Amino acid sequence: MDGRKNLVGLSREELAAELAAMGEPPFRARQLWHWIYHRGVGDFAAMTTLAKSFRADLAARYVVARPATARALASADGTRKWLLRFADGQEAECVHIPEEDRGTLCVSSQVGCTLTCKFCHTGTQRLVRNLDAGEIVGQVMAARDAIGEWPSPPEDRQITNVVMMGMGEPLYNYDSVAKALKIVMDPEGLSVSRRKITLSTAGVVPTIRRCGEELAVNLAISLHAVTDELRDVLVPLNKKYPLAALLDACRTYPGASNARRITFEYVMLKGVNDTPAEARALVRLIAGIPAKVNLIPFNAWPGAPFECSSDRAIAAFADIVNAAGYASPVRTPRGRDILAACGQLKSESVKLRMRERLAMGSALPLTPTLSPEGRGG
Ligand code: SAH
Repeated sequence: MDGRKNLVGLSREELAAELAAMGEPPFRARQLWHWIYHRGVGDFAAMTTLAKSFRADLAARYVVARPATARALASADGTRKWLLRFADGQEAECVHIPEEDRGTLCVSSQVGCTLTCKFCHTGTQRLVRNLDAGEIVGQVMAARDAIGEWPSPPEDRQITNVVMMGMGEPLYNYDSVAKALKIVMDPEGLSVSRRKITLSTAGVVPTIRRCGEELAVNLAISLHAVTDELRDVLVPLNKKYPLAALLDACRTYPGASNARRITFEYVMLKGVNDTPAEARALVRLIAGIPAKVNLIPFNAWPGAPFECSSDRAIAAFADIVNAAGYASPVRTPRGRDILAACGQLKSESVKLRMRERLAMGSALPLTPTLSPEGRGG
């Protein structure tokens, strides 16, 4: 806002180019990268391996900014959710899910979403805009700040996995997501291995292959129905990219193997998609694809037009898929009490007309309203 450029989100090459323009040699860019992404330092003055005058030059031109935390919530089950506010006042949510042997960070790719999947709360929010690479990486950094996980620990991390399963459709914002994930994967920084990163898509078929070739991250597909007729209703994107095309993209996903299976996500909606016949059809549909099936009990939200399937129906469905040789874990809902579970994320941001944006100008609140973390929801 004060005209200084944010370094977070620049690729290694772009960072080197910025420094080259200041007359600095390439190794300075590597040092700076280390401070930003390995040490998590946001204040140039604290970057003590850099000459004092250089630090002052940097501070005059740049910032190392992550989104502000507008609200932080903690669930009774340990899940944490942050409502993050970006420089223009728009907001998105980010969730940390601690488990016995790992910790998963669920990251957003857009403010809102254009897909309008019928069972998803985010889908009721009009898309405001794509997040840029810095705003996506910034979520990981803000979570690391909150958890106190700097410098990047080699092991025993609380954030071991990153899933692009927050707000938005990551393959509709592919360039920024790809740029951000390359930074997240960089071994000399945040260093989350591609094996621990999963990108979830509702099925933007033409971009799936690119994602596999360029990023080689794990792929998750939001399937949710086994016929085009039903999927057209639940996931309207299906009208554009129907099941046959979607499954074909999965069959040819680069790098998919038995060691690196594709996850099919299937939300369990009572009386809608949860019969044994549908379980058997699912198995036929994914035949030949190295896959596992993640059954997600429907997470309700205010005004949702669905109910969650019964435990019995879910167990019967899982048994059929499992008997066919596919792992079919039922995802334990996490953070439901703070609306942090799958499909519950939503921010108040709405699309502003250009006129309104201009009128707000720099009057947008810059100071985050920090609220203490709630306990137990
Ligand atoms: N747009 C991407 C990323 C969102 S990931 C995608 O569609 O894959 C979030 C996952 O939660 C998706 O599988 C989504 O379909 C699922 N989901 C959405 N709403 C849900 C709800 N209310 N209960 C359970 N799962 C839901």
